[in-house]
Amino acid sequence: MIRFSHGVATSVGRVRRVNEDSYLAVPPIYAVADGMGGHGSGDVASRLAIEALARCVELRPLFTEAVQHALEEANQVIVSRAEPPSRMGTTVAGLAGLETAGGDQLMVFNVGDSRVYRLAGERIVQLTVDHSEVQELVLAGVLTREQARTHPRRNIVTRALGSAPTVHSDHWLLPAVGGDRFLICSDGLTGELPDEVILPLLTVGGPQQSAEALVAAANDAGGRDNITAVVVDIVGDARAADDTPTLIDQPAVWPGRPADRGGWGGPAGPVPPGGQRGQPAGWPRPPEDVGLHGLGLIGPDADGFGRGNR
Ligand code: MG
Repeated sequence: MIRFSHGVATSVGRVRRVNEDSYLAVPPIYAVADGMGGHGSGDVASRLAIEALARCVELRPLFTEAVQHALEEANQVIVSRAEPPSRMGTTVAGLAGLETAGGDQLMVFNVGDSRVYRLAGERIVQLTVDHSEVQELVLAGVLTREQARTHPRRNIVTRALGSAPTVHSDHWLLPAVGGDRFLICSDGLTGELPDEVILPLLTVGGPQQSAEALVAAANDAGGRDNITAVVVDIVGDARAADDTPTLIDQPAVWPGRPADRGGWGGPAGPVPPGGQRGQPAGWPRPPEDVGLHGLGLIGPDADGFGRGNR
C-alpha cells in the first residue's frame, strides 16, 4: 500500500482578481488544473477536470485506464458546457498511486503546461512534457529552457481539456519509492521561478511548508498568474528504484502486464479484473476536500482561449 503525505498552497497571485486554478489532493490522486476561457469560464473548466478525477479516488484497484477515462470524460463535459463562440478549457497534471500485482506504481499524467516534478537527490526533474508552443521550440533546439520560461508566447498551449472533441493525455509509470517527493504545479509557479529557485524550496521542511514556501516565492517574484503547488511525499517502504519513467502513449495498461519499457505506443492490455475499463455507474462522489477556486476571468486573456493560460 502506498502511503502519501501532502501539502497544498494556492494563491490568486498579485495581478489577477480570481483564482482559476483548481486542485485535488486526496490519496491516491493528486492533480492541478489551470483553467482558461472567456467570461469567467476558466474556473468552471478546471473544476470539471478536478471533479472527474475525484470520482476515481475511491476506486480499488485503481487503473491507468480509469484516470484516462476521467480525463476524457472531463474533456467531453467541458466541450459540451462551452457556449459558442466562447470557449473554455483547462490544463491538468498530476499523479495517481496504483497498487498493482507488479508492485506499487505512480502514474504521472498531463495535458497542457501544468507540470509534475520529481525531487531526485540534489536536483529536480520535470517528469511531464508541456504541451505548449515554446516546448516545441525547446525540443527543436530553437529556445533554451530558460528562454522558454520568459518567452512572449510561453502561454500558448497546444493541448488542453476542452479544446477538441477528443483529447490525448500523456502518462508515465514509475515505481512508488518511499522518500520520494513530487511537485505538481500550475504555470503561475514555474513562470515566476526557475528550477534553481524551486529546488531549495522543495527540499526544506514538510510538504505543507514546502508548498507554502513555493507559492510565497512565486508571489514575491511577481505573482502575475494564479499559483498552485501540491507537494506529495511517498512515505516509507523504500525499495530499489528504476528511475526511468515509461511513457505510455496508449490508455490501456493494467496491472499484471509489465509496462511497455520500449517507450511510445504500448499496445492495449486486456480488460482488467472487475471490468473497470470504462467508468461504471455509481462511482463515488467527489470527496469534500477538493480544492476549488475561481469565479471569473480577469486579465488580458479574457477572449483568448489558448492564449489565456497565464
Ligand atoms: Mg496559469
